[in-house]
Amino acid sequence: MDSKNIQKNAMHKSAEFTFTPPPEAPVFEPTPEEFADPLAYIAKIRPVAELTGICKIKPPSRWQPPFSLDVDKLKFVPRIQKVNELEAITRLKLLFLEKILKFWELQGSPLKIPMIENKTLDLYCLKFWVDEEGGFENCNSPKKWRKIANAMGYSQNASTMNFLRNNYEKILLPYEIFEQSKADILKTVKKTEPKSEIKSEIKTESKEESDGQITMISIDSISKVEFEEKPHTSIKKAKTGSDLKLDLDAVKNNMDVEQLRRNRELRRLACYGPGPKMPGLNDEEFDITKSRKRPRYDLDPLAIYTCAICQKDNRDDLLLICNGCSDTYHTFCLKPPLNAIPDGEWRCPCCIAEEVHKPAEAFGFAQAEREYTLQQFGEMADKFKSDYFGMSGHQVLTSVAEKEFWRIISSVEEDVTVEYGADLHSMDHGSGFPTKSSLNLYPGDQEYVDSGWNLNNLPVLEGSVLRFINADISGMTVPWMYVGMCFSAFCWHNEDHWSYSINYLHWGEAKTWYG
Ligand SMILES: [Zn+2]
Ligand SMILES: [Zn+2]
Repeated sequence: MDSKNIQKNAMHKSAEFTFTPPPEAPVFEPTPEEFADPLAYIAKIRPVAELTGICKIKPPSRWQPPFSLDVDKLKFVPRIQKVNELEAITRLKLLFLEKILKFWELQGSPLKIPMIENKTLDLYCLKFWVDEEGGFENCNSPKKWRKIANAMGYSQNASTMNFLRNNYEKILLPYEIFEQSKADILKTVKKTEPKSEIKSEIKTESKEESDGQITMISIDSISKVEFEEKPHTSIKKAKTGSDLKLDLDAVKNNMDVEQLRRNRELRRLACYGPGPKMPGLNDEEFDITKSRKRPRYDLDPLAIYTCAICQKDNRDDLLLICNGCSDTYHTFCLKPPLNAIPDGEWRCPCCIAEEVHKPAEAFGFAQAEREYTLQQFGEMADKFKSDYFGMSGHQVLTSVAEKEFWRIISSVEEDVTVEYGADLHSMDHGSGFPTKSSLNLYPGDQEYVDSGWNLNNLPVLEGSVLRFINADISGMTVPWMYVGMCFSAFCWHNEDHWSYSINYLHWGEAKTWYG
């Protein structure tokens, strides 16, 4: 399946969750004789196992290595996993949603994602299928909207089709128009370079002002940002003290936006109520005379403000000041135009473009705030599982937990977070296998200290290339240890240098592997 088809498949699946477990990997049961030489045995099963990329080797029943770890001493800080951030399509959806939410919020119209058939409308999926039909302007027949409703798994009645069409027009189309016209607007606006005299004048003024301000950021540095990084300001008159205060607010607001960006859980995702006002795209013709409200941000009466797009200073009742950069814009010069003065704070297209296109935060896991012993982690994990499923954890069928995992992972709304003690260095913690430096070995343990299947020994057996590396490389020549719980996961990956990976489950509940 090529990547386009994989995506199409995922877009279909998002409407109604189904899960078909992949076929079982081959299971090998070596005889004690075969088991005696690990590398020879691996070479033997290789032609079969390579076809599936993963296999299970069941040691002979008498091979039972002791769990050799100082349970009282082992302490570790797990990583925190928000389960649905692990899956690529769900992550794409979350990032797309974050952009759309930011786009509307920055314009003073925070978005409420509408509900359909008891679920929030999947905007990413809607955009995907409208694009498949050639874009919104091509979706001009009920037939196309029926097809889209069908692809998204909704019923194909007139009200659903209208719902999809209206919300596309209301929420996604303005964003699309903005994206398309952004380059032109940025070009137009950037034409107006600031005059150097104004620059120095502002700086002097800023210094006077800075003494009176209590803030972490000096006025000087704000002016610098304002005039060196955003040279497109169009206000003719030098700024007044009140304008500078406005800039301070702007810096503060930028910080809020920054916080929003960092908030990977999208706490502001509001999932009820109607969407934002339709900005200039409703059926009525756009009419500027209908807008009677004054802009919320009163302009300095002594200053002359010009629109950054048309460069005119007329209709100042419809000029908006950007809360980010203080540039001014006519409501009707914006693309798409605004048919009303926004109630909340408003950002200009340049500021929105900058915010919306900030690169996404690098993916990674936060560390938990607390340290666990194995016992404490086990208690936490058991409680989580029994609370989650409403029954004792060991009664939950593996197939049920597996299906639930894939359901959570494909949902943008699920907020399930678990902890995972992953990549624990066995040099610090031990590997669970006995080694010659283990304390309190029982007489029968020596066999396991020396066993080739002991993961401390396997990488450096005769015949292994890793034997020639004269260093302890965690995860390569020295095993890592993992302490998992229900729904904790490690993403599919290539091993370092495309080497094989081998894992031994010491104890606990079943763990599911995919190849
Ligand atoms: Zn204008
Ligand atoms: Zn701006």
